[in-house]
Amino acid sequence: MNAEIIAIGSELLLGETIDTNSAYLARHLAGIGIGLFRKTVVGDNQDRIASVISEALDRADLLICTGGLGPTIDDMTRESVAQAVGRPLEFHQHLLDQIEARFQSFGRTMSPSNRQQAFVPQGARIVENPRGTAPSFIVEDARGTVVVLPGVPSEMRYLWENAIMPYLREERGETGVILVRTLFAAGLGESVIGEMLADLMLAENPTLGISAKRAQYELRIGARADSQEAAAALADIAEGTIRERMGEHLIGTASLEQTATQLLAEHNLTIALNEGSITAPILRALTASPEGRAALRGSIIDTRGPAVNASAARSAVRASALNVRTHFAANLGLATCAAGTADEAGFTQVYLALAHANGIEEFERRAELASEEGWGFVATTALDEMRRIIAALKP
Ligand code: AMP
Ligand code: MG
Repeated sequence: MNAEIIAIGSELLLGETIDTNSAYLARHLAGIGIGLFRKTVVGDNQDRIASVISEALDRADLLICTGGLGPTIDDMTRESVAQAVGRPLEFHQHLLDQIEARFQSFGRTMSPSNRQQAFVPQGARIVENPRGTAPSFIVEDARGTVVVLPGVPSEMRYLWENAIMPYLREERGETGVILVRTLFAAGLGESVIGEMLADLMLAENPTLGISAKRAQYELRIGARADSQEAAAALADIAEGTIRERMGEHLIGTASLEQTATQLLAEHNLTIALNEGSITAPILRALTASPEGRAALRGSIIDTRGPAVNASAARSAVRASALNVRTHFAANLGLATCAAGTADEAGFTQVYLALAHANGIEEFERRAELASEEGWGFVATTALDEMRRIIAALKP
């Protein structure tokens, strides 16, 4: 079975409300092995919602819609679903009685506009909503199944867990799983990784997707099978291939930050920093975990600004790395310093040095330092080099 999600509401298109429902549904569809092929966001307009539903029904077996089930005139999901599947809306007195009873339990009276919530498309299966007033429903149409859920996130989640998941598992026989395993990599460009793993990225099961964050890559393996064990076995095969091809560039199942701080702890190493940026990205990465905080002996935020040129930056990071190592009595001293001004493309060369018991290693990285993430790239390089150096150090 393959699915699509349709999130309904003009507030989602205006960027005022973040569409968290789709993300929740996407994760949970994967959890029961249903492939998700598309997500659509559409505003509160009956014809547009109806056409989105109708087009999606031509492609997918299952549509999950959320939003637009409220009592106001901009809530048109019921009408739109009815239009898309070509069935009239039918009134259900018992639904209206339930809505009224719910208002009474709050000590309020139901307003006439709530009456529209007691209509569902002809032949729809009603899913009662004990968390709110809007009943939800499922239409099993010749072209596919349309599940309609409220937009209020707590209500949507409640109905998904307590009504829709049981329906899909027990009545539609969806008993599979999609296991998602994330591996982290660094030290190579995204296009190089993409070429290295192209065949895996084109495969249907397991699937492999790559996303980049500050020069650190997340490789997501998605394995679909009938059981958790079978899915894990499929993911293991893909992981083995990836590890073999990427070698030392593959960090593992923990992020670079976690891995680097874990290594410091395992090797009983302390560290001191001298960062040439007030954003102190390495300090922030290290102090995000208890291991990193325990390993940190001290940190200087160096506000002298960029060195005049490359050779000045090189001597500065060498001197600073040695200096903080001694000054803070740490096993490792790590320093960063930008050189000169940005080039036409906005990139600046940044120099790094890591002083340790056996000497000092130097590296460099080009980064767009004016951008919010610029120094984050420098931190990725620093932690990746540190990870390799620690792994190579004699215990
Ligand atoms: P509705 O069912 O369209 O009346 O939506 C009720 C409320 O749920 C809205 O005011 C939004 O705050 C919220 N909501 C609707 N759709 C979503 C969504 N896709 N993700 C997160 N919140 C939503
Ligand atoms: Mg709405």
